[in-house]
Amino acid sequence: MSIQKLISEARKIVIKFGSNTLAGTDGKINTSLLKEFADQTAKFTGQGKQIIIVSSGAQVAGLSTLDKWARKKDMHYRQALCAVGQVELMDAWRKAFKPHGLHIAQILLTQEDFGDPARTLNMRNTLFTLVDEGIIPIINENDTVSVEEIKIGDNDNLAAQSAILWSADLLVLFSDIDGIYNKNPKEFPDAKLTEEVSDIDSIRKEISIGETSSFGTGGISTKLEAAKKALSYGIPAILAHGGKPCCLEALAEGRQKGTVFKTAY
Ligand code: ADP
Repeated sequence: MSIQKLISEARKIVIKFGSNTLAGTDGKINTSLLKEFADQTAKFTGQGKQIIIVSSGAQVAGLSTLDKWARKKDMHYRQALCAVGQVELMDAWRKAFKPHGLHIAQILLTQEDFGDPARTLNMRNTLFTLVDEGIIPIINENDTVSVEEIKIGDNDNLAAQSAILWSADLLVLFSDIDGIYNKNPKEFPDAKLTEEVSDIDSIRKEISIGETSSFGTGGISTKLEAAKKALSYGIPAILAHGGKPCCLEALAEGRQKGTVFKTAY
């Protein structure tokens, strides 16, 4: 199925934004991108679709608020920075949705939450309630309590787990590249985009995975993991460029390319 068709047929969509996509060239949260995305979300929800956002960017937002902490690598400072940045990040999202009269809700999760049946039930119920009431949930990892042992570690996997939890129809991962290439497009201008992946294990062997950029955490490996996880529950996934003009609409109208992950059958 094409990306266009997948988006048009999906009612419940989980959309993840990576840090590099949310940060502007000045290293601050790109508020115009957030506004543009909120405009598109408002149109989609107006047409009966339901959207949950998974948003990275707390650290970027923290650094632009407290730039004197830029050199502090200590874990407690990183977590403290994310706590500061999370407020800024949500403030930016809140302002982006406000003109549409849409409220947002912050949901901070850890891996442990997904492993505990009572917590998953509560999370699921809260998500359903919020979405049914027309509120846009915005999920991020709870960095304050996420030490290494209980960390999800990257928002690609968090987005996949959220999509499974909410029984989404589609997972969209927005990054700063158009999709999966045979080699890192940032290093190799002749890298070729793979528009369709039906076997994730094979593609992993076929491509070479390069470095991620400064704020990226998971890179391509975690995107492949996330797509595999979602697909195992029958949820197709798309990886696309979130920094292109009106990316969601452009994908929905077949004007923008991406990589679609779908089962072979
Ligand atoms: P995000 O912040 O959106 O999660 P990451 O920075 O973690 O994104 O991962 C995306 C990056 O992975 C791209 O910017 C790209 O430079 C890099 N990358 C490495 N190898 C590949 C590949 N084979 N195909 C596409 N991107 C790749």
